[in-house]
This record gives sequence, structure tokens and C-alpha cells, in this order.
Amino acid sequence: MRMKGKNVIVTGGASGIGLASVERCLEEGASVVIADLEGGEGAARAAALDGRYAGRCLFKACDVTDTAQVDRLFAETVDELGGVDAVFNNAGIGGIAPSDEVSDDDFLRVIDINLNGVFRVARAALRVMYRQGSGSIVNCASILGMMGQSQTAAYTAAKGGVVNMTRTLGIEAAPKGVRVNAIGPGYIDTPLLAALDDELLQGLISLHPMARLGRPEEVANAFLFLASDEASFITGTTLMVDGGFTAGK
Ligand code: NDP
Repeated sequence: MRMKGKNVIVTGGASGIGLASVERCLEEGASVVIADLEGGEGAARAAALDGRYAGRCLFKACDVTDTAQVDRLFAETVDELGGVDAVFNNAGIGGIAPSDEVSDDDFLRVIDINLNGVFRVARAALRVMYRQGSGSIVNCASILGMMGQSQTAAYTAAKGGVVNMTRTLGIEAAPKGVRVNAIGPGYIDTPLLAALDDELLQGLISLHPMARLGRPEEVANAFLFLASDEASFITGTTLMVDGGFTAGK
């Protein structure tokens, strides 16, 4: 019960890595807010988990591209739960297309969710956590924050931005008792990969020295570690959860 009595917000918590992280935090004793898009699976998933975990899971609609919704998410969570101890800044979308064919709208949408959204959520979290004098923010980066990959200009720009922004936020927040880190997943078996054709996916799998996809709960375990007091001297860094992908081949 490493998270007993802690309050956790997981953006994009209705699916994939976020949902696995919600479940791991509940198992470890936390109260958890699934923050995800209105009209998606989030409300139903939270209701089911709330029943299994004695009223410790709730859903709040939040689009991370909307500052007012992000700020309301934090204000309501503080009102209802009393504070925010850990945040998984996980909401994100993919985007694969040849760069000469990418429209402004498509490029900006990936940046607005995967980079600007991470900042909006981190800023709201910092405001609450500075008042508390404690807290842990974990941003979701990617192996594609550490390296390029064909046809992912916006995604790699956003995730590279998350890695470096995490360093800055980690430095800035350290004197206030708040830690900020990131996780860099390799390819993880979630609905996000549905857009990849099988041949491309098999090629990507073969680039992991472990020669398989990661499981969402393997990323969730890394989040749990960084969110918990076990990571009390770790800030400003990115923990790769990638089966050795960025170590080389
Ligand atoms: P999923 O698509 O399974 O989950 C993403 C969740 O984010 C969905 O519930 C989605 O809602 C939600 N979401 C999308 N847009 C917004 C928004 N504007 N505001 C709030 N929530 C939003 O993907 P993963 O679990 O795979 O991805 C989670 C994170 O992990 C992302 O940041 C991704 O970039 C990163 N990642 C994933 C990897 C992988 O291989 N799966 C590899 C490396 C990093 P809806 O479904 O309704 O759109």
C-alpha cells in the first residue's frame, strides 16, 4: 500500500497506460481521479473501479487543450479530496504522416495535446503542490522524445519538448518540495498502436532488444515508483521503460 491516503490525478486515464496506472494506484491505496475527454470511456471505467475500490475512484471530464478545464480539474479535486499528491500527465495522441503532407491543423493538434497540454496540467499541479509544499508530477514522454523517427515530426517535437521541459520544471520546483519527472515508454500494447499496420509494428517490435511490446502495467509500475516517496531524490529526469530500445541494438 505504497500510495495509501494519497490523491492522484491521471490525465488520459480512461485507456491504455493511463488506465493501468489508475488501477495500480488504486491497488496501492490511493484515491484516483480519471481525467479524460467527456463522452469517452472514462466515466464508466471510473464507476466500475469506484465499486471495486471502496469509493476511491472518480471521473472528471477534462480536455487538456482547454486551460479552464484543466484548472477546474485541480480546483475540484482539491475541494473534494483535500489535495493532490501525484499527477500522471499522460494524455496524448499519436500522429504518423509524411512531413510534406502534414497540415497546420494536424501538426498543431499533436503539439497542443502532447506538449502544451502537459504544460497546462503541470502548471496547475505546481500551483496546488507549491501551496502544499509537496507533490510529484510525472510527464509522459516517449522513446520518440530521445530520437527521431520518420513521419512523426509533430510527435517527436512534442515528446522531445516534454523531456527538456521536465528538466526545467524539476529544477524550478525542487526548492518548493515538488518533484517533476518523465517516463519514456517504448512501444506499448495500447489502443494508440491501432493506427500502425502489422508490418510496421513487427519492424518496430524488432527494434526493442527485448523483442516484444511493453505492457501498460509495466509503465504504470514506473509511474507508481516516481510518484511515490521511494523516488524522493529523483527529479528532472526521464525514466525509460522501453525494453532497451534507446540503449541501442
Ligand atoms: P491511449 O490512446 O490508449 O490513451 C490515451 C488517452 O488520452 C485516451 O483515453 C484518450 O481519450 C485521452 N486523450 C486524448 N486526447 C485528450 C485530451 N485532449 N485531453 C484529455 N485526454 C485525452 O494511448 P496510450 O495509453 O498508449 O498513451 C498514453 C501516453 O503514452 C501518451 O502520452 C502517449 O504519447 C504515450 N506513449 C505511448 C506509447 C505506446 O506505444 N502506446 C509509446 C510512448 C509513449 P480518447 O480515447 O477518448 O481519445
